[in-house]
Amino acid sequence: MTVDFTTEQTAFARAVADFCKREAGTREKRDHLTQHGTHTHSEEVYAKMADLGWLGLTVPEEYGGSDATMVDMCILLEETARGMAPIGAIGPTLITGGAYAKFGTDEQKDTVLRGIVRGASQSISMSEPEAGSDVGNLSTRAEKTSDGWVVNGQKTWCSNAHISENILLVARTSRGEGKHEGLTMFHVPANTPGLKINPIELMGGQKETNDLYFTDCLLPEDAVVGEVGNGWRQLMTGLNFERLILAAMSLGAAERAFEDTLGYVSQRKQFGRPIGTFQALRHRIADLATEIECTKLLVYSVAREADAHPDRMLAREASMAKLKATETAKRVALEGMQMMGGYGYATEFDMEAHVRGALVSTIFGGTSEIQRDIIGKTFGL
Ligand SMILES: Cc1cc2nc3c(=O)[nH]c(=O)nc-3n(C[C@H](O)[C@H](O)[C@H](O)COP(=O)(O)OP(=O)(O)OC[C@H]3O[C@@H](n4cnc5c(N)ncnc54)[C@H](O)[C@@H]3O)c2cc1C
Repeated sequence: MTVDFTTEQTAFARAVADFCKREAGTREKRDHLTQHGTHTHSEEVYAKMADLGWLGLTVPEEYGGSDATMVDMCILLEETARGMAPIGAIGPTLITGGAYAKFGTDEQKDTVLRGIVRGASQSISMSEPEAGSDVGNLSTRAEKTSDGWVVNGQKTWCSNAHISENILLVARTSRGEGKHEGLTMFHVPANTPGLKINPIELMGGQKETNDLYFTDCLLPEDAVVGEVGNGWRQLMTGLNFERLILAAMSLGAAERAFEDTLGYVSQRKQFGRPIGTFQALRHRIADLATEIECTKLLVYSVAREADAHPDRMLAREASMAKLKATETAKRVALEGMQMMGGYGYATEFDMEAHVRGALVSTIFGGTSEIQRDIIGKTFGL
């Protein structure tokens, strides 16, 4: 592989891969940990990762983390996705933690960042039924009263809210000239009275995301994260970190789907020979391997750029990484399914789960269309 890691990073990647093999290396183990694939997150595996100190990688040292690099974070996410570790809450948790690290008060950081290090999940809630890609158009209101803030409205698609300790809420505190003005981030413990969390069932019966209903939900005055009215700008500074996280996870997912496909076409015989030796399949394998190699180079190049220039937004580069990695994961999984024939479609094999996971990756965290739009705009269009 062409990405040049340090000796420590190579050893770290190996340690994570070994851990995944040990904890979730067989279908039997994964079925047990995820209740036959219906849950994406295992507290048991996550707690072991916390004990190893891996969940604090992106957390500053003063809050118990190791303040590691973006490259280190990508290695962890790539290898856990590749190893199919059932830790679905890690992405949203790291994304949420990034916002608290930048904008939270000392007290909020103490609660949330130390929570992340010890293995507590955190969620972020931006999307609403009428505000998806156009998330700046959100309308959940937080009104200032003498007691603090009163929140009313409905959010949707909030990943892992049902198992999270806290939710980072983006709500409207005023109506300005533009829709992006008047948004504010709030710290909401998941057990706050006035907040109801209802599951949304996903493809394959998966339980991961939730609707959130806020009804006269009272938050203390100091629940604001960052500045009142500055929520959009704060969100923008974190979305690139979010895109890199999703890209690294999709890279690992693409690699796993590729390895499973390669294993199958090397073994499966038709017409007296392994099907992978037919040129139609061998060329596809070559194309997918090339796509994955390009994706890996892009993801780690953006991670290095982010490490070298932590204050740069990297809008174009991070969107390119998210777009390329998720579309590659989707292509690899779909072609893998085709190359496995009927067995790719059977739940007995992992390929259909790879397809389900890859299909949604081009939708959440900003769809592929939106990523292309962002990239296009950076060219002045
Ligand atoms: C599994 C899952 C987990 C999620 N987790 C979270 C979470 O934790 N927190 C959170 O806040 N949100 C979360 N989301 C929400 C997610 O970010 C949105 O679903 C996504 O941004 C798209 O919004 P939408 O579903 O409303 O689709 P829409 O915005 O209605 O888009 C529908 C289609 O129209 C296209 N489209 C829209 N606008 C344009 C445009 N300007 N140009 C071209 N095409 C366009 C889109 O690309 C898409 O193909 C999650 C979603 C899913 C499915």
